[in-house]
Amino acid sequence: MTKLPQNTIKKILEHKRNNGYIGGMKYTRAEKLAILADAAKYDASCASSGSVKRNSLASGGIGSTGGTGICHSYAPDGRCISLLKILMTNYCMFDCLYCINRSSSNVQRAAFTVKEIVDLTLDFYKRNYIEGLFLSSGITRSPDYTMEQLVEVARQLREDHKFGGYIHLKTIPEADADLLARAGKYADRLSINIELPDDSSIKKLAPEKDGARIRRSMAAMGSKIADAKGERKTSKKAPLFSPGGHSTQMIIGADDSNDGKVLQTSSGLYKGFGIKRVYYSAFSPIPDASAGLPIAQPPLMREHRLYQADWLMRFYGFKVDEILEGGNGGNLDLEIDPKLAWALKNRHMFPVDLNLADREMLLRVPGLGTKSVQRILTARRFTALRLQDLERICRSVKKLLPFVTLQDWSPGTQLDSLLLRERLQPKASQLDLFAA
Ligand code: SF4
Repeated sequence: MTKLPQNTIKKILEHKRNNGYIGGMKYTRAEKLAILADAAKYDASCASSGSVKRNSLASGGIGSTGGTGICHSYAPDGRCISLLKILMTNYCMFDCLYCINRSSSNVQRAAFTVKEIVDLTLDFYKRNYIEGLFLSSGITRSPDYTMEQLVEVARQLREDHKFGGYIHLKTIPEADADLLARAGKYADRLSINIELPDDSSIKKLAPEKDGARIRRSMAAMGSKIADAKGERKTSKKAPLFSPGGHSTQMIIGADDSNDGKVLQTSSGLYKGFGIKRVYYSAFSPIPDASAGLPIAQPPLMREHRLYQADWLMRFYGFKVDEILEGGNGGNLDLEIDPKLAWALKNRHMFPVDLNLADREMLLRVPGLGTKSVQRILTARRFTALRLQDLERICRSVKKLLPFVTLQDWSPGTQLDSLLLRERLQPKASQLDLFAA
């Protein structure tokens, strides 16, 4: 029997892999969907939002809120939409230690073809299951080859099928700049993962990746998005380029970066790269994890506090150093939210007169959100605010009363109380043994 040349064997294997043949067996489309949607669940950068779990599989009815690969996200216009969230393939030639799809991981592998993803998206869209696609991929053959496949999915959807739904493409920073530019032509939103807060951690945990290269790709993407926005202002016919902007994801707790480092990195990304949103993903120990990773996952509350701190940076005018004042040792306080933590450490700046304070100071009052602040500013144009006005404006006033004065309210000595933190700290609640 003639022996096939090594190159040909490689090509056959690659073809089989890319078409879902594993160990001589070919997965069905539904099986691939199960594998590749499960593999995509670790990516937080499409902003999943929770929903009640309902599944009619057992009852024989129709509908499921948790269909394989379907997640919820916010479109650029603020609508909550359902997305088909999948990987094109979970084969990967890279070996990022924190990733379940890394080359050395022993997971079940599968791959969709471009056509399969296009068909799946159109099928789901026509059945009203989804309003768009979130597509990412492990890297096979080369970053350029993989990126080309991702772009081809978006191109076929837009050009061949005139698909008007939402498309979010996860791009590969190591791919050619032209490919990233083509991705922006078809996608509503692009993202490149920054991966970890620190370049040295990237080097250690994702040896094939390079922090500087990731930032270069982000910068190129950011400036293309800004240019396209500028051109659209002068001509509505100017081509769109990722109109929903670009986002990124950072894994928390896989390295020893503290919250200060995480927030400094995010702040740099917002200021220097025009990133629309940084998503924080608490590292979760993966099956078959590398020995170079922590055994335990960081508390989920850490991820939550980072989101709150991020919100303070973006919408409330807080600087990273100010946010950290409320924590200790460079980390956020896990027991209370970062705005309350900051206010308790800066009691000399309170109470704030809600009838006189400017917007910036109102935004620093614990318990006052941007909407409440706007309502206060509007209402006080017509009347001097009293306690009952505040109760109408805010859902709950308990948290903010020690920090404000009104026409008929003063907190007295509450701000000096050593027990104030304890009083405002959310009470630990007993878990219900029979909760669903
Ligand atoms: S490049 Fe790294 S993070 Fe991305 S799929 Fe491959 S191993 Fe995972």
